Amino acid sequence: MPASTSASPRNRMATRLRSIPPTIFSEMSALALRTGSLNLGQGFPDRDGPASVVEAAVEALRAGRNQYAPGPGVPELRQAVAEHQARHYGIELDPTSQVIVTAGATEAVAAAVFALVEPGEEMVVLEPYYDSYVACIEMAGGVRRPVTLRAPDFRLDVDALRAAVTDRTRTILLNTPHNPTGAMLDRDELQAVADVALEHDLVVVTDEVYEHLVFDGRRHVPLCTLPGMWDRTVTISSAGKTFSFTGWKVGWVTGPAELVSIVLAAKQWLTFTNAAPLQPAVAHALTQEAGFYEELAGGLQTKRDLLVSGLRELDMDVYLPEATYFATADVRRYGFRDSMEFCLALPERAGVVAIPEQVFFDDQDAGRHLVRWAFCKETSVIEDALGRLAAADLYA
Ligand code: PMP
Ligand code: GLN
Repeated sequence: MPASTSASPRNRMATRLRSIPPTIFSEMSALALRTGSLNLGQGFPDRDGPASVVEAAVEALRAGRNQYAPGPGVPELRQAVAEHQARHYGIELDPTSQVIVTAGATEAVAAAVFALVEPGEEMVVLEPYYDSYVACIEMAGGVRRPVTLRAPDFRLDVDALRAAVTDRTRTILLNTPHNPTGAMLDRDELQAVADVALEHDLVVVTDEVYEHLVFDGRRHVPLCTLPGMWDRTVTISSAGKTFSFTGWKVGWVTGPAELVSIVLAAKQWLTFTNAAPLQPAVAHALTQEAGFYEELAGGLQTKRDLLVSGLRELDMDVYLPEATYFATADVRRYGFRDSMEFCLALPERAGVVAIPEQVFFDDQDAGRHLVRWAFCKETSVIEDALGRLAAADLYA
């Protein structure tokens, strides 16, 4: 047999994928299972969403809604998304041309990136990133231009944003409320993004999956509602976080018909369509269960306070998140070289899993010492985890 250089699976992998490591969420959830640790890593709640929404899904399954849904989504869900945007934000949408349903926000982001980014073009992205952004930009052959949100308060550095834009930039990918930091762009920061987008004729894709999980009386403001931004903004959200059904993977894209149809042009070749019986159930959730996410946000705020004060008692520097499922802590005092080492040692030392936030940064100096902790878990789980951390030797 002649020696072959193509025998290893790694060599067969397309080069554009080789630089993308496997998602940290799979790695750390597998580690939690393997070690029997409490999982404060991957962001999913351990209690499901409203029973009436499950019932609506069961009804849809029994009613035979089991064949392909229309590519852009079932009409009642597109209508429900339009009504939701009108009710919360005063955004009037035509559900037939300005709303499409996607396989979670993940597919929406992928479709938007594939549809809008030419090979070699630059996309400005906030770092720390949500990890699929990096993978999608790589797969599109685009170039990411990070704007770093820096600890301890993760505010947008407007000068850095301006400096990140070059003549090869055509898009910005924004995430607010922001995973992993839990920061929300405030009015001035949103306005700065809008100013830059308008000045440089950029399209902005905004991932707003945590729009309802905001704390201390804050309100989420969609970027598309700022003057001049409607025509150049693609807005993404999902039922996963709003209704505690992260496994359902039902998301949506809204915006002007021209941009939504461009995103659909890519989306139709990714999944085409998904989750036919879940789509009417999410329509039910959006129209009937608004109370659920209001209560959820209140409960999460209490859990945030519990986790943040517990971690602070362990002498970690913790930023108080304004929204989301997550709190970020500086773990330098424990003497580890980086957050990956800390997180890999944590299951054995404490029986707890958290996410090494450095994997979401290009700028390693900005992220090396940061760890993300999820508080979207039952109170007893958070208390148990804090007790284990307090009892453990966390020093390198
Ligand atoms: N964007 C962000 C910022 C997220 O945190 C997540 C995880 N919920 C997603 C997108 C993916 O959402 P989905 O599960 O709806 O695909
Ligand atoms: N959004 C979730 C998180 O940030 C994870 C989603 C996933 O596993 N891809 O933890």
